[in-house]
Amino acid sequence: MKDYLIAGGGICGIASALGIAKAGQSARVFEQAETFEELGAGLQMSPNAVRALQYLGAWDALAPLCCAPNDIHIRDGISGRTLKRIALGGSFERRFGAPYRVAHRADLLRALIETARQSPRVTLESRKRVLAARGQTEGASLDFEGCQRASGTAVIACDGIHSKLRLSIHPDSAPRDSGLILWRALIPTALAPNTIDPEAVCLWLRPGGHTVHYAVSGGRYISVVHVSQAHGSTARILPSFQGLPDNLSAFLSLAENWQSWPGLDLDPLSDWTAPWGMMLGDATHATLPFLAQGAAMALEDACVLSKHVEAKAPLAGVAAIRRERTASVQLHSRRQGKIYHAGGLLSRARNLTMAALTQERFLSRLAWLYDWRP
Ligand SMILES: Cc1cc2nc3c(=O)[nH]c(=O)nc-3n(C[C@H](O)[C@H](O)[C@H](O)COP(=O)(O)OP(=O)(O)OC[C@H]3O[C@@H](n4cnc5c(N)ncnc54)[C@H](O)[C@@H]3O)c2cc1C
Repeated sequence: MKDYLIAGGGICGIASALGIAKAGQSARVFEQAETFEELGAGLQMSPNAVRALQYLGAWDALAPLCCAPNDIHIRDGISGRTLKRIALGGSFERRFGAPYRVAHRADLLRALIETARQSPRVTLESRKRVLAARGQTEGASLDFEGCQRASGTAVIACDGIHSKLRLSIHPDSAPRDSGLILWRALIPTALAPNTIDPEAVCLWLRPGGHTVHYAVSGGRYISVVHVSQAHGSTARILPSFQGLPDNLSAFLSLAENWQSWPGLDLDPLSDWTAPWGMMLGDATHATLPFLAQGAAMALEDACVLSKHVEAKAPLAGVAAIRRERTASVQLHSRRQGKIYHAGGLLSRARNLTMAALTQERFLSRLAWLYDWRP
């Protein structure tokens, strides 16, 4: 039996390996970094992501490390006024058949790795930088830095938004810059003022940006993503605190470890396959984080891959099933960013619409995303 060769050991790469192992085949994951680890801060796990993790067998390892927020609390990021509260408890879980959880990204990757290490069908290899993939008469191969090569059944490219392997299929598919900067930090919950609710996913909307925060790591930290517009080449976060409600700016000022990411995504791509295999995850459908669905899409990809490998069906079928959904997420995320960051009349219309929506109506608008099943 030949191995599937996976380029990239992030969330998508390890999840894909678990999917292949579940289908009874073996996978080797090649990661360029010294170790398999995830930087950054928090991750929202919507019901579709939880269901994908359950299917892949990694949910039990992650569940004890997750936090269970009571609600999503949407606020005006200038006046501080509450615009909407969406309860995430029992009725939400009953509606979608799975919970909404939040976790540290490192905990998600650790849970995936822990599950992979228990499988005799998955091998994880670090310090392996992929340079190229080739299709062969039978199977495919990967070339690594240092003149090494591995051969196997097919290559699954999970090498992220700056994917080298994608460029061999779509040479012009450079990431698109939204002009936004995504700042991420962790703040110890014990330091937070009592006006900052650690039991909620809090979303503060303001013209040109927004802030979202929630507790992770068993409630010890609050993970913050603060989105602002990029002005010039030197990114500075402090000016973007001006005009925020006092309690929010005082809270954000507590962070000592801001890390910044440019707000990049890809345009939807029609072709995900190559003579050597196919690409998945951010490599093929990187999205802006405004629906909090990038990792969720990678986990869903891994489930669909698993089913195809099990059925011995061509990999092109995975793309055929996934393309429309991931393109919708990419385009809806861009639109969601515009709605979150609206000013003037548009923001007033948004606030009125939000206030008028019942909980049931609000959730039914998310059903196309959250109702997904492997
Ligand atoms: C601010 C922010 C907030 C987010 N919030 C959420 C959220 O709440 N919910 C959610 O579902 N998603 C969220 N996302 C999206 C999510 O983080 C990504 O979609 C997800 O991490 C993508 O996983 P991936 O494995 O495809 O890519 P990556 O995580 O980029 O992993 C790619 C891996 O490939 C390796 N690699 C790259 N090139 C090579 C090479 N040549 N050889 C070998 N290895 C290589 C890299 O080192 C890396 O380990 C957010 C993203 C951002 C920026």
